Amino acid sequence: MKAAVIHENGDLDRVCIEDIPEPQAADGEVVLDVRAAALNHLDIWVRKGRPGVELRAPHVLGSDAAGVVAEVGAGVDTVKAGDEVILNPGLWCGKCEFCLRGEQSECVSYGIIGMSRPGTFADKVAVPAVNLHPKPVHMSFEDASFTLSYLTAWRMLMSRAGLRVGEVVLIHGIGGGVALAALQLAKLASAEVIVTSSSDDKLQRAVDLGADHAIDYKSTPDVAARVMEITSGRGADIAFDTVGAATWPVDFASVRRGGRVVLCGVTSGATAETNLQALYWNHLTILGSTMGSSEELRQLLQAVQSVRLQPVIDSVLPLDDARQAMGRMEAGEQFGKIVLRTTA
Ligand SMILES: [Zn+2]
Repeated sequence: MKAAVIHENGDLDRVCIEDIPEPQAADGEVVLDVRAAALNHLDIWVRKGRPGVELRAPHVLGSDAAGVVAEVGAGVDTVKAGDEVILNPGLWCGKCEFCLRGEQSECVSYGIIGMSRPGTFADKVAVPAVNLHPKPVHMSFEDASFTLSYLTAWRMLMSRAGLRVGEVVLIHGIGGGVALAALQLAKLASAEVIVTSSSDDKLQRAVDLGADHAIDYKSTPDVAARVMEITSGRGADIAFDTVGAATWPVDFASVRRGGRVVLCGVTSGATAETNLQALYWNHLTILGSTMGSSEELRQLLQAVQSVRLQPVIDSVLPLDDARQAMGRMEAGEQFGKIVLRTTA
C-alpha cells in the first residue's frame, strides 16, 4: 500500500511516498481503509524528532483519519467491516488511575497514533477498535478527519476553562486548526470572540466565520491593550493559547480578574516568563490541556451533529502531495485543515 513515511528525523525532504506492507489487525484492533487524513502541527514535531523519541523506520506520519472499517481483529464487536468511522488519535492503557476515571488523555502512558505507532497518511492503518466513533452523517470523509484539533479545542474550552454562554474568549493565531476549532466551538456557546493574526486575509475570514473582533498584531503590537479597549477595561474571560512563548505574557495582561488562561501548544517556544504578581493578585487560573477523553469526543460529536457544524478546510490534496501539504502547514499559510485524500 501507499504511505507517506520518514526513515529518519529531519526537514521536509525526509518525507517520501513509498509502497509498504499492509498492516494487520491484532486482537482488539481494526484495519481502517483511510479515505482522508488531516495534517496537524504534531506531524511536524514527529518529523523533526525529539531527543529520546526513536522511530521505527519507515515511520508512517499522520494522526487524524476518517475512513471505512476494512477488517476487524479478534474480540472486536463494536464495529464491523463497512462502517464509516472517524479516529480518536489518542492511545491510552485503560488500566491506570486516570484511565479508570475516564480521563484517557491524562493516561500515564498516553501516546498518539502517528507518533507512538504507525500513522494515517497511508491507504490503510491498524488502530484499536476503542478509538473509532461513527462518522457524522452530514460530513464528507474530508470534513470528518477533524478529531485532533476539534477534540483539543473542546476539552480546552468546555472542560478545562469551563466556558459559559456569553463569555469573552481571546484566541491567538487564528488560521491554525485548533484556533479555528476554538472559534467555531466558542460561537456555538454564544461567546464573544476576539481573534489575532498578522494576516488581514485570515482576520477577515475569521470575522466571516463569526469572530466579533479581529486584532492585527503587526499593526497593533500591544494586543492586551486592544483587548482591554474592546472589553471596556475588563479583560477577556478566557485566553485560549496554542502559541506558547510569544503570546503567554499577552494572556496574563488580557484576562479579567478571575480569568482563565488555557494552553495546549507551544508553536513559538516552550519557555516563557509568567507575571506571578498578575497571577495571584488577579486570581488567575492556568490550565494545561492535551487532546481529550472518549466522553469529550462523544460530546463534541453530539454538538457538531446537532448544528451540522462543518470544520474549516483549507485544502484537500492527494496523498502523493504529502510533502507539499506539510510545507504549506509549516509556512503557516493555511486557514483550516489541510487534508490528504487517498484514492481508495
Ligand atoms: Zn492509562
